[in-house]
Amino acid sequence: QMNERESMFMVSNYAKDYFHDIMLNTNKGKAIGLSYFKERGFRDDTIKTFELGYCLDEWDGFTKAALKKGYDLKYLASTGLTIVKETKQFDRFKGRVMFPIHSMSGRILGFGGRILTADKKAAKYLNSPESDIYHKSKILYGLYQAKKEIAKQDNCYLVEGYTDVISFHQSGVENVVASSGTALTPDQIRLVNRLTKNITVLFDGDAAGIRASIRGIDLILEQGMNVKVVQFPDGEDPDSFAKSHSTTELKTYLEESSKDFIEFKVSLLLKESNNDPVKKAGVIRDIVTSISKIPDGIQREVYVQECARIMDISERVLFSELAQLLKKGI
Ligand code: ATP
Ligand code: MN
Ligand code: MN
Ligand code: MN
Repeated sequence: QMNERESMFMVSNYAKDYFHDIMLNTNKGKAIGLSYFKERGFRDDTIKTFELGYCLDEWDGFTKAALKKGYDLKYLASTGLTIVKETKQFDRFKGRVMFPIHSMSGRILGFGGRILTADKKAAKYLNSPESDIYHKSKILYGLYQAKKEIAKQDNCYLVEGYTDVISFHQSGVENVVASSGTALTPDQIRLVNRLTKNITVLFDGDAAGIRASIRGIDLILEQGMNVKVVQFPDGEDPDSFAKSHSTTELKTYLEESSKDFIEFKVSLLLKESNNDPVKKAGVIRDIVTSISKIPDGIQREVYVQECARIMDISERVLFSELAQLLKKGI
């Protein structure tokens, strides 16, 4: 079993080097893959740091090269790099730019591959399938490149996508990881928890992004961590924002727009409630529900005080609401 996984790591590492090399050193790789990343504004050093690559638009270019090097078809198939259909073999990531996904210690667990055309029928991103080495619910993209800076800054920015991570890095904000399209999981938060107790959620400025932030908040609070939220203007994501602002502007925005989860929920929900007392009560209950997820009693009390102040309501009422929720929880 250990040898099987070892073989899967080896072929994944070979694939990472192969896609990177093809992109930098072949005519098609340069004309298609490299120019895609260049057009998105990624520098050479950034492309190296993230070991980005390109899988040629051929049916089995990569698979053939790997077999010729002596890698076993069994592991090409079990990592999902090669799709085996009866007697035929295809490259899963044919024609896509490649984002290798590293473990905390830098081993290659899998890949994300982005399509280059705006083809509505094909998925924009394709990921490695679940396997003995790739468990998407336990992976955070960029953690390997970010871990030192997360510990140093004692804060971790959490974004949605691969390119958000890469653009932040390039702008000099390196303590950033992505959940990469999956809804945030407790295992992913645990990975960050080993490095810092502070997470700042930075999801896209659209309805889906806001929903995802709200779901993420309670999961982070449940693990006794502090959570802040930065909202981006509608239609922007961290990548597009970083590209259109200087490093100083980006860092200033992150500092000045970051709200703790109570301020975030208040500003989000209160807008909709228009001072309607029934709706305002709903907002308060929503916030108290989040507070009830916090394991530490003293921390809960601090947040109750904050909520009482911001919502202009007595602490006593909030504590009794909280007590009921906690009783239900047991
Ligand atoms: P780009 O800037 O390259 O268009 P993005 O990162 O902004 O991509 P989003 O649509 O915001 O893309 O999605 C966020 C993340 O969700 C992606 O980075 C990717 O990890 C994942 N994702 C998006 N679309 C798909 C898909 N069709 N299948 C699987 N994962 C996806
Ligand atoms: Mn989005
Ligand atoms: Mn996005
Ligand atoms: Mn984007």
